[in-house]
Order: sequence, then structure tokens, then C-alpha cells
Amino acid sequence: MDIEQESILSHTGQTWKYLAGLFVGTLSTIVFIVSFFYPQWQFFLVMSAGAGAATSLIIEFTIRCPKCKARWYLEELSKPIGSSSIIMVRKQKACPACGLSSE
Ligand SMILES: [Zn+2]
Repeated sequence: MDIEQESILSHTGQTWKYLAGLFVGTLSTIVFIVSFFYPQWQFFLVMSAGAGAATSLIIEFTIRCPKCKARWYLEELSKPIGSSSIIMVRKQKACPACGLSSE
């Protein structure tokens, strides 16, 4: 039995945004790398770079606390390098800004 507490991200129903972003991000990275070696695929190079940038913006701006509207990913990114824990956002159990818990 899984006794791990649900993360605040899945509790607020926003995991799909993260997973969709991860999927598009990975896909566009692959397309970007492949098309980099094929100059005739310049269109895909630009498209994949655009898709990757758009994806990161969607994750940063749409994943937010339903209570205090804090943008979890954007706030992690704006922290000084070293103290940021961007990969921990997905696992966090409560909103770091207002304390909204998934319990
Ligand atoms: Zn909050």
C-alpha cells in the first residue's frame, strides 16, 4: 500500500500540466537535436525551439496555488542559483507561500 502523502501538485489536479510539459519539452528537445544536424529541417528547428520555450512558459505560469495564486515553478526559478529546488516542486506537500496542504 502506498502510504506516501499525495503531493500538492496532484492534489490540486495540476500534475497533467507538468507531465504534458515534460512530454512536449522532451519531444521538442529531440526534434531540435535531430534537425540541428539537417540544415534543410530549419523549419523544425525553429518550431521545436518555440515549442520548448512555450512549454516552459506554460509550466511556469499556469501551475499555481489555487488559494494564494503563487506560481510554484516561477518562484523556484526566481530564487538564487543553488537554493532553488525546481525538481522538488512536484513532490512538495504544501504551498510554500500560504501553506495550503494536500492533506
Ligand atoms: Zn498558496
